[in-house]
Amino acid sequence: MDIHEYQAKEILANFGVDIPPGALAYSPEQAAYRAREIGGDRWVVKAQVHAGGRGKAGGVKVCSSDAEIQETCENLFGRKLVTHQTGPEGKGIYRVYVEGAVPIEREIYLGFVLDRSSQRVMIVASAEGGMEIEEISAEKPESIVRATVEPAVGLQDFQCRQIAFKLGIDPALTARMVRTLQGCYQAFSEYDATMVEINPLVITGDNRILALDAKMTFDDNALFRHPHISELRDKSQEDPRESRAADRGLSYVGLDGNIGCIVNGAGLAMATMDTIKLAGGEPANFLDIGGGATPERVAKAFRLVMSDSNVQAVLVNIFAGINRCDWVAEGVVQALKEVQVEVPVIVRLAGTNVEEGQKILAKSGLPIIRARTLMEAAERAVGAWKNDLTENTIVRAVQ
Ligand code: ADP
Ligand code: MG
Repeated sequence: MDIHEYQAKEILANFGVDIPPGALAYSPEQAAYRAREIGGDRWVVKAQVHAGGRGKAGGVKVCSSDAEIQETCENLFGRKLVTHQTGPEGKGIYRVYVEGAVPIEREIYLGFVLDRSSQRVMIVASAEGGMEIEEISAEKPESIVRATVEPAVGLQDFQCRQIAFKLGIDPALTARMVRTLQGCYQAFSEYDATMVEINPLVITGDNRILALDAKMTFDDNALFRHPHISELRDKSQEDPRESRAADRGLSYVGLDGNIGCIVNGAGLAMATMDTIKLAGGEPANFLDIGGGATPERVAKAFRLVMSDSNVQAVLVNIFAGINRCDWVAEGVVQALKEVQVEVPVIVRLAGTNVEEGQKILAKSGLPIIRARTLMEAAERAVGAWKNDLTENTIVRAVQ
């Protein structure tokens, strides 16, 4: 789960990371009022969306008067901000963060990530702040400083001092840098984060180290341990298809093609999508019904996939181990009776109770296309979708 910049800043500040004074606003008037509360004569108005690259996309503006703040906000609120991280559909702006403008001397990149190969938290830092880490690693890979944290002892101060030294930070600021790094690490481990990124971490003209931006991502599977972090979820920033699935306990990943996939297990989902591509199609999504799916759960999954208007064929691919093919078949039949499905449905079942499952599908009298192997299923799905398309095109042409 992702959270907003202002939320991440508040968390990090509680762990000793310094941030500029700032406040949240839900309207242009409130933003201007917030700026007066903060004081000073220059502020930065920042669109709160779950994506980076806001600055380049016009979502971060320096303002020096009430009127300018209000005008900037009028242009931001209710709009969709499209950055290189949001995809072309963009993300809605419903909150802005107003922050005192800071005299920047140096910008540093700082990230904490889970390095899966060493199974450790890894710190990634670079003196080339302001740029995205992908750009830095492509253009200035030699500027990247890395350190891994031994979990038994946690992040050590000497490691932080080494990082500060490699980044060329003024020795007078080393202690402050150590505190910043330790604060990020504590926030990361305390809340089961998978990523903390401060880009830029800045050194100001008056020798302070401040986080000017902050991003945090949390491990969804650990959110039950942190109810106050779960509360920070902002559905307005999520793909509506994915949040509807999450609310129903299903995992769903929305994609751009037109063949909907209902599968069990992430590995099988990958294989299914690969096979669809091999057969000449493009998956619209993958929906993982998980193990032990009841007919009700399968029906829910079906409704969810059908609610995506891009879906022009549905491929159900189940390899039942813990699952039971007869239950899945019942779920498919139940769903097809309830939901108006006007697209071809292809079902491939294998594993536990496969014969019973096939019988249920056959007896239902519904126009379900059955397949024995995954390749056959993918070919039929792509074939059925293409046929459907040409038929519709012909009908449209005739009309
Ligand atoms: P994003 O990464 O989404 O573009 P940032 O929060 O990093 O958004 O802001 C973009 C740039 O705007 C920063 O790299 C920094 O140069 C500038 N900036 C952001 N906040 C402030 C601030 N409080 N004072 C001065 N400049 C700022
Ligand atoms: Mg940034």
